[in-house]
Amino acid sequence: MLTSMKIIDAHAHCGRQDRFPPQDLSDYTSRLGNSGISAAIMFPPVAEIYDRYDPNFKDNEKWRRRRAESNEYLLAISSSRFEVYPFFFIWNDFAVEQLNEAHKGIKWHRHSDEPVYDYASPRCAAAVAEIRRRNMPVVLEEEFENTLFFINELAGGVRVIIPHLGMLNGGYELLRGKGIWEKPNIYTDTALASLGEIKDYVLRYGHERILFGSDFPFGDPASELNKVLRLNLPAEQCDAIIGGNAAKLLSEVL
Ligand SMILES: [Zn+2]
Repeated sequence: MLTSMKIIDAHAHCGRQDRFPPQDLSDYTSRLGNSGISAAIMFPPVAEIYDRYDPNFKDNEKWRRRRAESNEYLLAISSSRFEVYPFFFIWNDFAVEQLNEAHKGIKWHRHSDEPVYDYASPRCAAAVAEIRRRNMPVVLEEEFENTLFFINELAGGVRVIIPHLGMLNGGYELLRGKGIWEKPNIYTDTALASLGEIKDYVLRYGHERILFGSDFPFGDPASELNKVLRLNLPAEQCDAIIGGNAAKLLSEVL
């Protein structure tokens, strides 16, 4: 490793209820090899939060329990050997009362064929207010129109990390056309993104709002890190992407 930087994976799913594939903390750390990754932003697997295969999904007590247990698991696994920054995976009950001071951010996730967030709910507005009060970053994966709505209307000014260079939010280019990437509060991560799009992003928008992420268990932490190192960016830029930017973002959470 060419750097003394603390390397932070800014995008990992981790849980022990969804075993397809296995993705608890030991499954994650067993994949690290000598990559030097020593910390991760982690959020629950989608399958522990709602039934993504049922667009008419109605929330119920069983799922509320599953969700709470999933979010709680991440609060208990950080250690001196591997540091975990838990992000609270918020769903339609907008249960921000479950947030505590260990939470460092929010995961907000939906694909176009999945059950929708109730954006008109007063609980949604209250959740955004709490996110704003704590200055929490939100990892937002939503379809294109809802991404624009979230950024431009619902939660203007909130720091948003659009994962995968936008791959699942309408695509890098479509977001670029809407002027999303130049906004000072919009961040992104490199998880499963192409080298070409990462290079283009850094050229156009600089290196201070892009974070290395793996999308474990769908991406491999060590090889996703290698992808970023292979860009051969100047050391200062590389260090920012593989850890510095994430550390700064996390340090600003209240
Ligand atoms: Zn992901």
